[in-house]
Amino acid sequence: MSETACKTCAFFEIKAAKTDAKGECRFNPPVFLTEEEHKGMWPVVQSDDWCGHFEQDAA
Ligand code: SF4
Repeated sequence: MSETACKTCAFFEIKAAKTDAKGECRFNPPVFLTEEEHKGMWPVVQSDDWCGHFEQDAA
């Protein structure tokens, strides 16, 4: 049975997270929070979050 959650999504990047409960969503390119930052970041999501772009991880 599959679970609709970021932790089972093809776009969830757990390696970049500090804990198993969080990861980065790689569905979109990094985003700039402000123009002054000049550093893009991926959104950090909880492993049990999900969104309408969910795609089951093949692994
Ligand atoms: S926010 Fe959506 S696209 Fe991103 S990892 Fe979670 S379910 Fe996948």
